[in-house]
Amino acid sequence: MTYSQPSCADIFESGLMSYEDALLRILSSLSAIKGSERLPIERARGRILHKSVISTLEVPSHTNSAVDGYALRASDLSGRDDYRLLIRDVALAGRQFDGVIEKGECLRIMTGAAIPEPLDTVIMQEHVELEDGCIRINHHYRAGKNVRHAGEDIRIGDTVLAAGRVLTPPDIGLLASVGISEIEVKRRLTLAIASTGDEVFAPGQALCPGGLYDSNRYSLIAALDRPDIEIVDLGILPDDVDALLKSFNEAGCYADVIISSGGVSVGEADFTKLALSNSGQVDFWKVAIKPGRPLAFGRIGQAAFFGLPGNPVAVMVTFYFFVLPALEKMLGMVDKPVAPTFKARTTEDLRKVPGRTEIQRAIISRDENGEWIVRTTGKQGSGILRSMSLANAFIVLDHEDAGISAGEMVTVKPFCGMF
Ligand code: AMP
Ligand code: MG
Repeated sequence: MTYSQPSCADIFESGLMSYEDALLRILSSLSAIKGSERLPIERARGRILHKSVISTLEVPSHTNSAVDGYALRASDLSGRDDYRLLIRDVALAGRQFDGVIEKGECLRIMTGAAIPEPLDTVIMQEHVELEDGCIRINHHYRAGKNVRHAGEDIRIGDTVLAAGRVLTPPDIGLLASVGISEIEVKRRLTLAIASTGDEVFAPGQALCPGGLYDSNRYSLIAALDRPDIEIVDLGILPDDVDALLKSFNEAGCYADVIISSGGVSVGEADFTKLALSNSGQVDFWKVAIKPGRPLAFGRIGQAAFFGLPGNPVAVMVTFYFFVLPALEKMLGMVDKPVAPTFKARTTEDLRKVPGRTEIQRAIISRDENGEWIVRTTGKQGSGILRSMSLANAFIVLDHEDAGISAGEMVTVKPFCGMF
């Protein structure tokens, strides 16, 4: 008997592990990698910061003007409604201004130019009238207006970015703004990825009778195409115990993680299980999650091993719900971009039996009132990859949930931010 197509009856079977338990077991057995490397900041987007960055300078480094206009003393503007100040000189951004501005005078100043003391206020050029080398101001101006103070963005000793952060485009700019050109980031994780099965063929090859094309390796490699991960493609491995062991053991010498798909159920042709079940280092679980019930997890050599199910949707679901959180932990991510989950109103009845977590593929949109609604992508078989490709979100039905009627609210997890 194989379990690759779980049915409702299966849940009465004993020995199922809840999704939460399985995830907890995986996460608690993994720790963050130690190594790091130094990169120019322009190559560091999407990498994880190894150590917190402390600023050694102030940003901005000098008090400067936020606008093009005229710098003056606020005290020159008190007591009257109508002022005339002589334009003494001009200050440009990036040029040192050494002149002196006396009382009753002002300084023509450009955006970003340093404001010399004791000037403390800048009036926008649009707010003055020019008259014989003087400016005329006829409305009230607040002292300190249009002045950017030294250190108002970042002070010396401030933590600019904390360790464990995934570096985003503004972070890269922020590093540059404090004068940093190279940065220490966590080294990349090396992931070895394999498909298994004698019936599985690479696209581009001719299919033999009974064969099918490998989609799992491709969806996984695409999902892992990111700056902090290096992929080693182990190809398609045959249903042969020795060949599987050889390939996995080799990968266990250099990879941080090995991910294979297929062969983890309990059928006679579940060769991944046959190959590894006596190793003592890999457990074969039946997780109360649909799709994705059979799941292998353990260690091979120095690598964490994930044996995902064979069915293409089960592969994607187990990847996003088990493997990805594990990779994030191994990468030492602390402050990671959050993929939101929220509630949406289902427009159709959803069949569900209590006793397992169900991940349905769905389309979220907004109705005419701007409220989020959700419908499934139709047939939800774990082999129907189109159900995933058509979707823009998962519906997550919790372990205890029973059937849900149209109009009820359900939890959705949009792909946006997750992919
Ligand atoms: P298994 O658990 O190995 O029996 O695989 C379960 C189902 O997934 C079978 O129908 C396999 O043919 C299919 N399958 C396994 N590996 C792949 C793959 N790499 N791409 C697409 N389908 C696969
Ligand atoms: Mg197989």
